[in-house]
Amino acid sequence: MNNDENEIIELFLKLTSIDAESFNERKIADAIIEELKVLGIEAHEDDAAYKLSGNAGNIYASLEGESDKDPVLLSSHLDTVVPGNGKKPVFENGIIKSDGKTVLGADDVAGIVEIISAIKRIIKSGKKHRKIELLFPVAEEVYTKGASVFDYSILESKEAYCLDLSGDVGSAVINAPTLISFEIIIKGKAAHAGFAPWEGINAIEAASKAIALIKQGKVDDNSTLNIGTINGGNATNIVSSECVIKGEIRSYIHDRALELYEDMLKIFKTEASSVGADVQGEYEIHIIAYKVDEKSNVVKRFIESCESIGLKPELRSSFGGSDNHQFNANGIKGIVLSCGMENVHTVNEYIKVENLIKGTDLVEQIILS
Ligand SMILES: [Zn+2]
Repeated sequence: MNNDENEIIELFLKLTSIDAESFNERKIADAIIEELKVLGIEAHEDDAAYKLSGNAGNIYASLEGESDKDPVLLSSHLDTVVPGNGKKPVFENGIIKSDGKTVLGADDVAGIVEIISAIKRIIKSGKKHRKIELLFPVAEEVYTKGASVFDYSILESKEAYCLDLSGDVGSAVINAPTLISFEIIIKGKAAHAGFAPWEGINAIEAASKAIALIKQGKVDDNSTLNIGTINGGNATNIVSSECVIKGEIRSYIHDRALELYEDMLKIFKTEASSVGADVQGEYEIHIIAYKVDEKSNVVKRFIESCESIGLKPELRSSFGGSDNHQFNANGIKGIVLSCGMENVHTVNEYIKVENLIKGTDLVEQIILS
């Protein structure tokens, strides 16, 4: 291990030791502000803490570069999923993992470390580079809430690299879905189940009839639909007066996601009315589908940067959400890069040090290209 590699590992171990579950990112935000300050970069913080009732805002900064090159935005989120408190990273045999009691938090500290380490190298080398803008959002793990309240008008970049993908460094996501969650409330009428069941309207019966007709799982080539929870009824001897059904829909085609919701709602309404029950439906759009052209500059630069350091680039789709959804929704063409993390959102999360180094090499290339 050379000095540069040791510093990368050290920073990773330091940042993954900090508690940073969503809405509790204060300590890691402060650590990153400090890391950037040491590099002579002044970081700023927006008002996301206030807007989201958390304890830290989105952290952003920039490093000026050559004016004839397009600026790019580099981003990784600050928060981790649960269980993320009391993390103790364990480094052995070229791998860093958690102690098995919490997540490691490589999601997304790996990205943060690769970005900061690449900048450190570039500043040290004195090499000419493009302008870079940095954004470290809070609360990504909660439907990208931090990135959704950021004011993108303060950024110059029209292209972004969001380091927040599992797997070996060299793959990138250019296509991701719309995700909407829904809640359907079926209202029936309570009655004594033994003495006068004919006076009641059974909301659970209405729900069952509808759910039996709704196609779930992979409903077409681009979309999934899932009913995730169902709650209803008060007691075994009461005709159930209410039943609440919650679920989500994902689709690579935004309008298709909305259409699937409307089709589903129609089935609930038809079946509920067949037993005299009423239906209320609500949905929330969390992220909107995007697809970045393979021939666009942001993708071409990624491919060239990979090739110049001996990585085989791979472009793919993902059915998950990331802050990159918010970038694309705000006019910044972004793609998601893998930063080497594995088994994320589990206590078996780990990263190979080799990938941390490659990720740093790749970010450095993108900045220098
Ligand atoms: Zn993540």
